[in-house]
Amino acid sequence: MKNITVIGAGTMGNGIAHVFAQNGFQVSLVDISENALQKALSSISNNLDRMLAKEKISQQTKVATLNSIQTFTELKKGIINADLVIEAATENLALKKKIFSQIDELAPASSILATNTSSISITEIASVTNRPEMVIGMHFMNPVPIMKLIEVIRGYSTSDEVTHKIMGLSKTLGKVPVEVNDYPGFIANRILMPMINEAIYSLYESVAGVYEIDTVMKLGMAHPMGPLQLADFIGLDVCLSILKVLFDGFGNPKYAPCPLLVNMVMAGKLGIKSGEGFYDYGASKKAETVSSQFK
Ligand code: NAD
Repeated sequence: MKNITVIGAGTMGNGIAHVFAQNGFQVSLVDISENALQKALSSISNNLDRMLAKEKISQQTKVATLNSIQTFTELKKGIINADLVIEAATENLALKKKIFSQIDELAPASSILATNTSSISITEIASVTNRPEMVIGMHFMNPVPIMKLIEVIRGYSTSDEVTHKIMGLSKTLGKVPVEVNDYPGFIANRILMPMINEAIYSLYESVAGVYEIDTVMKLGMAHPMGPLQLADFIGLDVCLSILKVLFDGFGNPKYAPCPLLVNMVMAGKLGIKSGEGFYDYGASKKAETVSSQFK
């Protein structure tokens, strides 16, 4: 594989484009928003600068990485030579189905089609294509250039050959792929989201404040960040949509999203990306707990 098309240039899409480009692939990055594409290129450049400053890469690698990424707002142009398409657009089933029926029509017949979805059924996404055996989940973790894991999800019809290729490709990126089957939330979010939801319930029921909950989990369980801070980092809207997928998929009330999470998303408090979630990421840029409201 040589040519990779990444669809969606947000938090995950820019990281995925970065990692492939740094490993010698030609990347076409596609987004409906020109602004998102420009922001993605500047994030990639800033991340490369940080790596350069730490002497993890050379100036030559930085230049080669940026030169390997082309941006497109028109899907048709960005997909023409794709050996692999990775969709990293907004977490929404209807949107992903629409994108997959378009890419199935426009991408070469030999292209493997992957999705970076956090929780949506690979089998359902594959069902709108004429090549379900070539559709697979490739779930990168955030931030993509740093996190080693790729959860590789086999849909009901995904072939052994495609799974084998994607496992191998993931290793060439320096990542550690883990193969899982296609059930709601896969493994990562099936385990992570109930923990985050329980942390939000603990806050909602005033068992403890933001600082206390996160400190218990950081110092008591050796987690690098507390569950509320992690939820802010992931995006509270993303957490809510994953919990809805778990709740609908298993029909089990234990996955019901906490009403506080639902309220915060409705109020536009989405975490880091909106400047406020369980913590305030305002002018000082230093995360402070929004404790007056929650204690
Ligand atoms: P994001 O909101 O940061 O970015 C989504 C991008 O998709 C936006 O730039 C938007 O303009 C673009 N987009 C929307 N419709 C499009 C279309 N039709 N064609 C092309 N681009 C389109 O979202 P994100 O956090 O990067 O999440 C992307 C995917 O990755 C989701 O499926 C999410 O569940 C998954 N994911 C997210 C995380 C995380 O921590 N944020 C981690 C793992 C996986």
